[in-house]
Amino acid sequence: MKIQKIFTDAGLRPTKARIAVLSTISEAPSALSHPEILDRLSNQKEFDRVTIYRVLDWLTEHHLIHKISGDNRAWKYQISQKQFSESFKPQQQLISTDHHHAHLHCKICGQITCVHELEPHFPAKILAQYQVSSIDINIKGVCANCADSIHHKN
Ligand SMILES: [Zn+2]
Ligand SMILES: [Zn+2]
Repeated sequence: MKIQKIFTDAGLRPTKARIAVLSTISEAPSALSHPEILDRLSNQKEFDRVTIYRVLDWLTEHHLIHKISGDNRAWKYQISQKQFSESFKPQQQLISTDHHHAHLHCKICGQITCVHELEPHFPAKILAQYQVSSIDINIKGVCANCADSIHHKN
């Protein structure tokens, strides 16, 4: 199972809840919020909201997923793409590899998509002087689905 391999490759212990949450996030077409994850796991009664909160924190801490600031100050969670690459090593997950990419936010449906191809070229001089803890690049617009439905309404 691919999800289980992510944990073992990273040297982390998979639990039932961790696997369930990570699978849910990886199967979603865009980033999910805590309530959305809870909703998708509602058929599995052993995972309450607190358990899922803890799992999300744990997965974020270990860089298997990353947090994206969505609307209404609610966090959305997306899988960290680096996990799937051959060269991934957990100890390489410094600021230089973690939060560098941009996110597309659809103004209509709220869908958030990672754009790993778009990364800032950060001057080393700034990083030497300033302790950057996270970088959040947000691009707002209208996704293909929403653009399509606007088009069909007219
Ligand atoms: Zn949309
Ligand atoms: Zn992302």
